Amino acid sequence: MNELSNFHTQPAQPFFAQALLDWYPRHRRDLPWRRTQDPYAIWLSEIILQQTRVQQGLPYYERFLAAYPTVQDLANAPEQEVLRLWQGLGYYSRARNLRLTAQQVVNEYGGQFPGSYAELLKLRGVGPYTAAAIASFAFEERVAVLDGNVYRVLSRVFGITTDIAQPAARKEFQQLADQLISYENPADYNQAIMEFGAIQCTPVNPDCLFCPVREQCFAFQHGMVQQLPVKAKAKAARTRYFHYFVLRHGEQVYLRRRGGKDIWHGLFDFHLLETPAAELPAQALLTELEQLGAQVMTAKASEPAALVRHTLSHQKVEARFHELWLAVPLVPAALQQAGLEAYAAAQLDELPKPVIITNYLEQKAII
Ligand code: SF4
Repeated sequence: MNELSNFHTQPAQPFFAQALLDWYPRHRRDLPWRRTQDPYAIWLSEIILQQTRVQQGLPYYERFLAAYPTVQDLANAPEQEVLRLWQGLGYYSRARNLRLTAQQVVNEYGGQFPGSYAELLKLRGVGPYTAAAIASFAFEERVAVLDGNVYRVLSRVFGITTDIAQPAARKEFQQLADQLISYENPADYNQAIMEFGAIQCTPVNPDCLFCPVREQCFAFQHGMVQQLPVKAKAKAARTRYFHYFVLRHGEQVYLRRRGGKDIWHGLFDFHLLETPAAELPAQALLTELEQLGAQVMTAKASEPAALVRHTLSHQKVEARFHELWLAVPLVPAALQQAGLEAYAAAQLDELPKPVIITNYLEQKAII
C-alpha cells in the first residue's frame, strides 16, 4: 500500500490538467450557473447543489434567482418565504444561513461579494469548497476545489489509499489538488475536474475505456477502480419514531412551528409524540389527547395510521400519521401550551413544511 500512497508525491503531473481542459469543452453540460461570473448566482448554485443533484437543483436555482435577483433582495426577504422556496431540499439550516449570509454581504461588504478565497471564507456557511468555487469561477483565483467528485478522481488517478472519510485526508488531497490546478485557466480546470467526476469517473461503472487519462490512471492500471477511493463506512443512522396527531375540525387543521435544535427547525408540522419504539401504546395516545383537551370523534380516530419512512443525513424517521377529527375546537389554553394553531386548508400551502408533511397533505387532498 505504501507504493500506492506515494505515487502522487512524484513531480507535478502536467498531463492531468491538460487532459481535463481538453476533455471539458467536449463533454460539459450546459448549465445556467456556468454561463455567469456573478458571484451571487454562483454562490446560490453551489449551496443548492450541496443539497441535491443537478437536475433536481435546477428549478430551485431558477426560482431563487427569479424571486431574488440580487443579494440585496435575498437579504430583505422574510425567513418564512425563503424556507418555503427551499422546501424539499432538506437541511433547512442551510436555507436560514443563505439569508443570513446575504445580510452579511449587504451589511459588511456593501452588497458586493468579497473577491478572494480568504475573504469568502469569512462568510457565514461558506466553507473551503464553496469559497474555492466562487473564487475561481467568479474571480479566476487559482485555488482548487475539493468535493466528493474530486476526491474520487484524484484517489483513482494518483493511487491515494488514504480514507477520505478521515478529516486528515483533506490536507493531503488539497495539497495535491493545489499542485495540479491549471495556472492559465483555474476556473475551467475546477469545473472540468468536478464534471469529469460526475459524468466520466463515476462512483459505479466509470467509463474507463474512453477515458483520456486511462494510460496514467493508477486505479485502471492496477485493477483498483472499484477499491478507490477508500471510504470507511459511516455509523448506521439511528431511527426515530414519530407519531403525528393530525388534529382536524371542520375545515381546519392544527399545526405548530418547530423550534429547538432538532431537525426541521422553523418548519411547520403536526402535534408530535416521539416514542422509543414503533408502536404507540394506547395509553400514551389517550394521555396525550387528555392533555390537549381533545374530544375525538371515535369513528374517524380508529382509521389505521399512515406510515411514511424518511431518511435524513444522520437519522431515519418513521412517521405515523393519526388522523383525529375533533368534536369541538381546541381551547386557546391548550393551543398555547402545545404551540399549535388552527389553519384553514387554503393557508397551508404558504407555510414552510418538511417534505413528509407536504406529501401527507397532498395525499389526503388537504392542499
Ligand atoms: S481510467 Fe477509469 S478510474 Fe481512471 S480516471 Fe479514467 S474513468 Fe476514472
